[in-house]
Amino acid sequence: VIELRGAPVARAIRDETAAAIAKLEWVPHLASVLDPAAEDAAAYSRQLGKACERAGLRFSEHAIDADAGVLIRRLNDDDDVTAVFLHEPASVDLRALVNPAKDPERPVPCTAQAVVELLRHYHIGLDGADVVIVGRSATVGRPLANLLLDMRPGPTVTICHTGTKSLRAHTMRAEVVVAAAGRPRLVDAVADGAVVVDVGTNVVDGQLAGDVDAAAVSRTCGALSPVPGGVGPVTVACLLRSVVRMARLAAE
Ligand code: NAP
Repeated sequence: VIELRGAPVARAIRDETAAAIAKLEWVPHLASVLDPAAEDAAAYSRQLGKACERAGLRFSEHAIDADAGVLIRRLNDDDDVTAVFLHEPASVDLRALVNPAKDPERPVPCTAQAVVELLRHYHIGLDGADVVIVGRSATVGRPLANLLLDMRPGPTVTICHTGTKSLRAHTMRAEVVVAAAGRPRLVDAVADGAVVVDVGTNVVDGQLAGDVDAAAVSRTCGALSPVPGGVGPVTVACLLRSVVRMARLAAE
């Protein structure tokens, strides 16, 4: 089984980003906004802080409180802030306040970009392929389907969700399966030679676990992305790339 490791993909994106940073006349600044009580968000924010430090970007962290709307508006209006990343969980109303020109998840959420970058890096042929995405969220499943549907000629895309009658019937016929459901070991049967991308980040017994039962699918699949070390690092690299793009657009 080929391991679709994120590290080399993230490295290539970081190199591209470093070259773009070198051309800027000032240092972009990412503001990370989160509910500090949300452990996942706090861990992700720490990871972003470290990634920014390594890349030479400025980083600041802001806790959501009763006046979260005031905070977002202040960051929107602050010319010193390039991008505002609002962590999950956050209300739809609060998310709508983030200035689109400062939202690094626009126009395409970074996780969806990361899955495509991973597939591209490992030369996974998508034209004419049958792709099954498990999960229809606005942040992962749907934008990923859109990116794939924008390709020409591109793959045939199926999205599964909790209303899907037989998930296995879909995962067992797909050439590429992307699991983004937030359910540990949900995907446990795939076709011979299938490419499996595991987006899931679940904490099980204090350990990070994906949405794929790696032991079960490894009996048949051709390639699998590990958790941790697969999509995650690529998502972070895509986020920093997005911040630098925003800085460039702001400069223009
Ligand atoms: P989400 O908003 O909770 O959406 C989950 C989706 O999976 C929903 O569409 C849901 O269907 C579907 N689903 C849940 N259980 C299912 C089941 N038993 N059978 C079929 N479909 C099922 O989650 P998300 O934000 O998209 O995130 C998905 C996973 O990716 C999570 O583990 C999250 O932590 C992870 N994630 C990872 C990264 C990364 O960089 N690696 C980034 C973002 C998220 P319904 O719509 O019918 O409810």
